Amino acid sequence: MYDWLNALPKAELHLHLEGSLEPELLFALAERNRIALPWSDVEALRAAYAFNNLQEFLDLYYRGADVLRTEQDFYDLTWAYLLKCKAQNVVHVEPFFDPQTHTDRGIPFEVVMRGIKGALVDGEKQLGISHGLILAFLRHLPEEQAFKTLEQAMPFRDAFIGVGLDSSEKGFPPRLFERVFAKARSEGLHAVAHAGEEGPPEYIWEALDLLKIVRIDHGVRASEDERLMQRIIDEQIPLTVCPLSNTKLCVFEHMGQHNILDMLERGVKVTVNSDDPAYFGGYVTENFMALHEGLGMSEAQAKRLAQNSLDARLV
Ligand SMILES: [Zn+2]
Repeated sequence: MYDWLNALPKAELHLHLEGSLEPELLFALAERNRIALPWSDVEALRAAYAFNNLQEFLDLYYRGADVLRTEQDFYDLTWAYLLKCKAQNVVHVEPFFDPQTHTDRGIPFEVVMRGIKGALVDGEKQLGISHGLILAFLRHLPEEQAFKTLEQAMPFRDAFIGVGLDSSEKGFPPRLFERVFAKARSEGLHAVAHAGEEGPPEYIWEALDLLKIVRIDHGVRASEDERLMQRIIDEQIPLTVCPLSNTKLCVFEHMGQHNILDMLERGVKVTVNSDDPAYFGGYVTENFMALHEGLGMSEAQAKRLAQNSLDARLV
């Protein structure tokens, strides 16, 4: 089954580039940039990947991202991810990057952008993987800073296709970012947002009605609100679901409880994605495999999920 799932043509629509930083590369970059790490080796770091919630993960994730300093570092990070995609027949990617994670520690915006974009362009030419990059705002920071980030990004307007919203969800509702999303949309950018991962269904309503998003990242808690479910089905709004992330961060206790296949059978346009694969135990194929093993996903269902990912592309 693994090989069959691996061979299925797929798109990945919910992936944080910083979350694809594998421990081996993290250690290599730390050495290259002469940065001291709190972990003795790769194994000790991997052992730290046991999380009880989103925040515990984020604390480690931001620590790890600190080894990314130069344009070459961002290139290498992105290129390593694209090689994984090539090996798993992921033919199109729409990854997120978090500029504020880097600009806040003094890395110039253009260093981040050039490194990532350089690898994506090479990936298109050399690996045949098409892409659309999405700039994500950190929601635990004020909207004012998101505005500043958008302004820094505008000289590179052609390098990305949309804006997203990520980081700590609870207590940071989408409505806090209504104005910056309006500004981004006025620049012709697509809007997506994380909503309904740990946060309540109300956050999904806000993301749709106030941020005017065209795709929901996670959105698994939509199933708690029947009226919302009906809207998502009627309007065929895609959900970028990340099964291994959801169980690793305890959104669901175990894969057997995950609602993705119930949603698929009800007609929701759900897709399978890896979120932060270096931290959550696998890339897209591993996420499909987890649905097969934990939920008994059939080949027919896998084909529909893969087709949904190709249909839900923004570019
Ligand atoms: Zn995410």
